[in-house]
Amino acid sequence: MFNSLQDKLDKALQNIQGRGKITEINVAETVKEIRRALVDADVNYKVAKDLTKRVQDKALGQNVLTSITPGQLMTKIVHDELVELMGTTQEGINLSDKPTIILIAGLQGSGKTTFSGKLANYLKQKRSKNPLLVACDVYRPAAIDQLTVLADQVGVTIYKEIENKNPVEISQNAIQFAKENKHDVVIIDTAGRLAIDEAMMNEIRNVHQAVKPTETLFVVDAMTGQDAVNTALAFNHVLDYNGVVLTKLDGDTRGGAALTVRSVVHKPIKFISTGEKMEALDLFYPERMADRILG
Ligand code: GDP
Repeated sequence: MFNSLQDKLDKALQNIQGRGKITEINVAETVKEIRRALVDADVNYKVAKDLTKRVQDKALGQNVLTSITPGQLMTKIVHDELVELMGTTQEGINLSDKPTIILIAGLQGSGKTTFSGKLANYLKQKRSKNPLLVACDVYRPAAIDQLTVLADQVGVTIYKEIENKNPVEISQNAIQFAKENKHDVVIIDTAGRLAIDEAMMNEIRNVHQAVKPTETLFVVDAMTGQDAVNTALAFNHVLDYNGVVLTKLDGDTRGGAALTVRSVVHKPIKFISTGEKMEALDLFYPERMADRILG
């Protein structure tokens, strides 16, 4: 994960690490290299610029020049800024409603259906819940089949209406079914399109208004870099969602989405998905992610 970013940040910080005494120019050079590493990793330019400005101010303010271990101090400052950027704390999901309704939104191919299966698995295994998976992708029968396979695999019930093409009706019926059958969480997997369009946004908005979810989670493919952030903004505009799920972090992603989404969209990253297996799901901890990025 983030190998190239890790290498570049490591190199930038090593420059200062070997030195006993450093100058303001050394700090400025290091900061510039850090900024370049972040931008190369697809971090939004302004976000990278603001972050490195804060690093520079802190470094000089904390007397990095007279420190006996300037490299360590500088690494700590960068670490703390990365944590701050990603949101400081882990924000869990709110499971207080009975039943808790979780709406899953995102583009087609982002990993929504896979995540829905993983979330059901997580809630069943780790939170002792009895989730109901709801297939609301009325355009792609294959998506319903895929969710059926995943539900089977993790051992949870699926609600589907093959003939019904109205996602609002399906989700309302599913909630009724959940109440009658003692399911305490309802996970609604919605349809996605390859690109954002009005029809898709209207459809998800209608479902959102009808079911009033406890949590709306926006799923985005981390591999799509800056586009991930733009899509996150567009969905937030329509749904005002509670949190972001970053998928495909096991792939060759450069890290930009993970580092930028929080500060641009002002919504927490709640989960990260790191593979196709049902267990490959982690809660997102900014601190752990910063540790990973700095190696
Ligand atoms: P949807 O169209 O948004 O429902 O997306 P899918 O859940 O069908 O996922 C699209 C593809 O990405 C499938 O081939 C998944 O197996 C794959 N996928 C989903 N999440 C991950 C992940 O975290 N890592 C990897 N490597 N592949 C994933």
